Amino acid sequence: MKTVFLVGAGPAGLFAAQKIAQAGHQVMVFNRDIKPGGLAEYGIYPVKDKMKIGLRKQFAKVLSFPNLHYFGHVPVGSESAVTIDELRQFHPAAMVFSVGAQGTKSLGLPGENAKGVYSAKDFVYFYNQLPPFASRDFSTGKRIAVIGMGNVAVDIIRWLLQDDPNRQTEEVTIVARRGPFEAKFDEKEFAHVQMHLDRNLFQQELERVKDKIATVGQDISKVAEATFPALVKYPNQELVMPRLRFRFLSSPKEIHAGADGRINRLLVTENNLVAKDGGTAAKATDQTAELDVDTMIFAIGDVHDPKLGLPCGRDGYVTRPNPEDPKAPVFECYDPQKNELLTGVYVVGWARRASEGLVGIARHDGEVGAEKVLHYLANVPDSAPVSPEAIQRRIEAKGVKVVTKDDLALLGKVEEREAQKRDLVAFKFSDDESMLTAIDKEKEKSSAYVSAG
Ligand SMILES: Cc1cc2nc3c(=O)[nH]c(=O)nc-3n(C[C@H](O)[C@H](O)[C@H](O)COP(=O)(O)OP(=O)(O)OC[C@H]3O[C@@H](n4cnc5c(N)ncnc54)[C@H](O)[C@@H]3O)c2cc1C
Repeated sequence: MKTVFLVGAGPAGLFAAQKIAQAGHQVMVFNRDIKPGGLAEYGIYPVKDKMKIGLRKQFAKVLSFPNLHYFGHVPVGSESAVTIDELRQFHPAAMVFSVGAQGTKSLGLPGENAKGVYSAKDFVYFYNQLPPFASRDFSTGKRIAVIGMGNVAVDIIRWLLQDDPNRQTEEVTIVARRGPFEAKFDEKEFAHVQMHLDRNLFQQELERVKDKIATVGQDISKVAEATFPALVKYPNQELVMPRLRFRFLSSPKEIHAGADGRINRLLVTENNLVAKDGGTAAKATDQTAELDVDTMIFAIGDVHDPKLGLPCGRDGYVTRPNPEDPKAPVFECYDPQKNELLTGVYVVGWARRASEGLVGIARHDGEVGAEKVLHYLANVPDSAPVSPEAIQRRIEAKGVKVVTKDDLALLGKVEEREAQKRDLVAFKFSDDESMLTAIDKEKEKSSAYVSAG
């Protein structure tokens, strides 16, 4: 039996952990969040209860392996209490990083620090109650610009139009740098919000961009069947307020704020569409337009957190070059400056390729990566790892309160009771302190029962 450290307990990490634990090795999971699940817990849309509950059950099964140890509430990174070098000093045989893509793609625009301007992931973390985002100000106003045309943008729109209990939304504008044929969201996701689409304004917008997209051979009359099937499926749909509209061929250029420091105008550059590499690209013109908005959320993809301490590449943490088959997935980490392999260090899931697909894809990536790790383990000597108890003591000596599997079970009990009390499908605490206090109180309660018995 060898010992593998796994950093990050999202779907990719947990399914990788399962494979490695099933093979009989000891797995130690270090996770930034108190709870496991990553974006499956804190990204997937809140009302997708069935899916979330199903995944929680699968994750609980993974954590129940006796040869798997969980260290929750332990961020790893160059500026965290635990660094990668410190993990190495605990002598794992291999390390797998499955930390997702936690960085934020910056827009790099004048005024982007104005109040009311948020990155999509932070906003999603907020409404899914991930500490510390859950207790920060993510207030939204009446007129909201959402930048991007993918599934994450649609989730956010759905929240703004339907489910946010504090919503003041009157109008959401999706701002897209390319045209209607480049919409990337799934039909099934857009179906949740299609009743808010102002069909008249949509037709006007199609007319506005018609000639520009015709230059790359796109025919506006085909939009419905190509990327907006909701228009065909629900031809007589009446507009349900608040309204959803689109602004195509437009890229944010400048954010203007009012005296209160909050965004009150968004200046966009108008684009042309040009053919590129068999697809299309936006080409900026010198024309601009102003959008009257009080909130802006940009859903333009995720990047890696350079503070983790692994070399960062364009799509994810850098992996070994593979010139023979550049398209094949590679999981072994690599230092491009020294031109050397980081022996025994692996990366899986969104940490390997940011924003790449749904949970199923992350799971597959984790499992394929785990196969590579198992192959590596078969050929290395035992590493004389430090015991889980000693690791916990050493981390806690730095002032970090480690959350174990037993603690998670106690937290689960409290959350279940809170959900029943409130008649909810599930209840989540929205800050770490409340979770840690709930665990401590539950521990006291169980030890009181034991001593009373
Ligand atoms: C808004 C949104 C909605 C989505 N909706 C769906 C959906 O409906 N259906 C679907 O199938 N997929 C959905 N997805 C995709 C799905 O969530 C991802 O495919 C999947 O979660 C990626 O898994 P991962 O394990 O690679 O990363 P993540 O899920 O991001 O997990 C990363 C883990 O690493 C931990 N971590 C991060 N940094 C550190 C650190 N420095 N030290 C220690 N631990 C760290 C985190 O705590 C977390 O546990 C959605 C994604 C988003 C963004």
